[in-house]
Amino acid sequence: MKPIGIISALPEEIEHLKSGSLETVEVCGLSFHKGKVDGRDAVLVETGIGKVNAAIVTTLLIERFDCRGVLFSGVAGGLDPALSIGDVVIGKRVVQHDYGRLQNEKLITFQPGAFPLPGMDSTHGFEIDDALMARAEEALDGVALKGLDDVEGAANTNPRVVFGTILTGDSFVNCEVTRQRLHDNFKAQAVEMEGAAVAQVATQMGRPWLIVRCLSDLAGAESHMDFNGFLSVTTENAASVTRRLVEAFD
Ligand code: SAH
Repeated sequence: MKPIGIISALPEEIEHLKSGSLETVEVCGLSFHKGKVDGRDAVLVETGIGKVNAAIVTTLLIERFDCRGVLFSGVAGGLDPALSIGDVVIGKRVVQHDYGRLQNEKLITFQPGAFPLPGMDSTHGFEIDDALMARAEEALDGVALKGLDDVEGAANTNPRVVFGTILTGDSFVNCEVTRQRLHDNFKAQAVEMEGAAVAQVATQMGRPWLIVRCLSDLAGAESHMDFNGFLSVTTENAASVTRRLVEAFD
């Protein structure tokens, strides 16, 4: 079977998924590690931060490495007050929240690549395939996540996995007003900087995709502190879910 491409932005995110002997191939200054994840052939790669990096890597995984699907494993800021640091969100819908038209100091979001002009269709976002989502739900049965009871300043003893809306944009959200606006406008659960770019490329190239994000922070005024404090445990939770989801592509 062809490999699955496994993408992360940061070294801390991809590290948990590397195991066994890996063959490393360098392309465009990026290291692609060929190995196994959950017994299946996989190519693991760290993109660096942001949508363009994510798009370059996704294209290479599909074109050069012939990956049959792509899976992003990483962390995100939480937008939904119902969720806590340590919970995992899987993208049912992923949206680039920073593409569109600025009018009267407000951004009207459009599908990336669409003409962002009045009168044009402003529906946007990428949705996961229903059959893939059903297989993903099945594959997650009984998955164990690490609680955050032992981490100072946070108690989430029983983290959960939810399917929801994930927003992507080229800014780290470190602002309560923006967090509130993004949640109100998009009814979204999480915000990050790569996922919807991966989904755009994979959709265009006809390959399935899954975006997995454990909440490392809540995108407010403290998000830079939380991000650093919880990176280790939250990247581990994202990796535990990602490992389970590889079989959903079979
Ligand atoms: N301080 C970090 C910056 C990481 S940027 C450093 O020095 O490397 C944050 C990364 O985690 C991005 O890859 C993004 O996808 C995700 N992320 C986590 N919390 C986020 C938030 N509040 N807003 C946007 N992206 C977030």
